[in-house]
Amino acid sequence: MIYRSSRNDALSATPSEAVVRGLAPDGGLYTPDRIPCIDWRALETLDYTHMAAKVISALLPDFSEEELVRLVSDAYRGKFGREDITPSVEVGNDILLELFHGPTSAFKDVALCLLPYLMRSAAVKCGDKEEILILTATSGDTGKAALEGFRDVPGIRIMVFFPDCGVSPVQRAQMVTQQGENVKVCAVKGNFDDAQSAVKAIFEQVKDKPHLSSANSINIGRLVPQVVYYFDAYFAAVRMGRIAPGDKLDYCVPTGNFGDILAGYIAGEMGLPVGRLVCASNKNNILTDFIRTGVYDCRREFYRTESPSMDILISSNLERLLRLMSGDAGLVSELMAKLKLTRCYTAPDALMEKIRAKFWAGCCEDTDAESAIGKLWREEKYLCDTHTAVAWDVARQYKAACPDHAPVVILSTASPYKFPAAVLNAIGEHCDGDEFDMMEKLEAVTGVPMPENLRSLRCRPVRHTDLTAPGDMLSYVLKKSEEEKW
Ligand SMILES: *Cc1c(COP(=O)(O)O)cnc(C)c1O
Repeated sequence: MIYRSSRNDALSATPSEAVVRGLAPDGGLYTPDRIPCIDWRALETLDYTHMAAKVISALLPDFSEEELVRLVSDAYRGKFGREDITPSVEVGNDILLELFHGPTSAFKDVALCLLPYLMRSAAVKCGDKEEILILTATSGDTGKAALEGFRDVPGIRIMVFFPDCGVSPVQRAQMVTQQGENVKVCAVKGNFDDAQSAVKAIFEQVKDKPHLSSANSINIGRLVPQVVYYFDAYFAAVRMGRIAPGDKLDYCVPTGNFGDILAGYIAGEMGLPVGRLVCASNKNNILTDFIRTGVYDCRREFYRTESPSMDILISSNLERLLRLMSGDAGLVSELMAKLKLTRCYTAPDALMEKIRAKFWAGCCEDTDAESAIGKLWREEKYLCDTHTAVAWDVARQYKAACPDHAPVVILSTASPYKFPAAVLNAIGEHCDGDEFDMMEKLEAVTGVPMPENLRSLRCRPVRHTDLTAPGDMLSYVLKKSEEEKW
């Protein structure tokens, strides 16, 4: 199995090279030339670590299963509040797949605890001895999860760029207090798309030194660990008696950069009976429009919402889906060139039909998400965060629109304590203090325990105060990478 740039079949890489490089040299995303089938029924009795080893080894075949058992158990040991890593719980008629029990209370921990281990081993396999510099743009959660995952990992340094006014106060506090001798955090004057575009441009401009890689979901090593929990949730649904083995299961995914939902698509292509993938967006509903009309149009207003990790207009991993479903790198290259030039493209009808056969899309406003949080709390005594609430509301729309739906798993991507102001408001409570007071109030009124990593945040000293414009990011990166010690 080989990986190729989504824009040019001639630019290939082994799985390890794809992980180490992060992005293909032409700016394309490394995409598998075919997705391997696995005997999914054989995974049912395995624990999370062994299931992960089998799934990941199929997708990154230059890692053996034995090696992956070791890497996965080292990566997750002591970092997740629970043995089962990604528990599924029944809430009303749905199943919520809780992905937020890791060290930073967002689903990105599942991949970012493991990525440093994959990257170090991949570098050895490639004979790569140089220091790697990870560049990451974040809409809030990736940054902290990547910092935590890579902190003090030998041979790797990491730089995180976040939109100065685009993250929640808790997310900001998590990042600017980050410890570790190999980490840099810098605010960017702009929104997430500005930061992400600048990072992609740096990848295209820096050819040799420093040796760059990415912890964003443009890196296939970020995506692959996320495929595992689609299997895990499937078996949970079987155990709950919601489906029989072999039945279809639908998944509703709160979506930003399209990485998480693409992992679900890959799980289905590997043979897991994935029914429909429901793409849930907030008011930044470019993906809803695209899936419904075939037109991807960025010439629209960008909104700041209560679910900031989904405030994205340029959804990177959609490019991988276009490549996988069309089988045509030339087409992808053409569409991406159009996007860059005109901020808009139209996908061919035949391709859109294929996409619509697998994906359903919907969106909701902050007010709908807030109602969802309130309703779930009142009726089910279940407290969810703002991103999960968007998915819950869109799942409701989906079930109404498609009566032939299968049981639905909703991916729950963050702890409600990361967004305490919106969550408190949604359950009809009020607090005059800062976000930390709100977290305490939320715990006092709901009795749902606050994650320890967030409780200790308030008293940690600020270590990072840098601020830059998107146009100055390249020189910032070059200057900092020259410094011996951070
Ligand atoms: C990143 C994130 C998402 C979106 O995931 P993508 O893989 O970017 O689509 C959704 N919810 C939360 C809480 C996130 O941090």
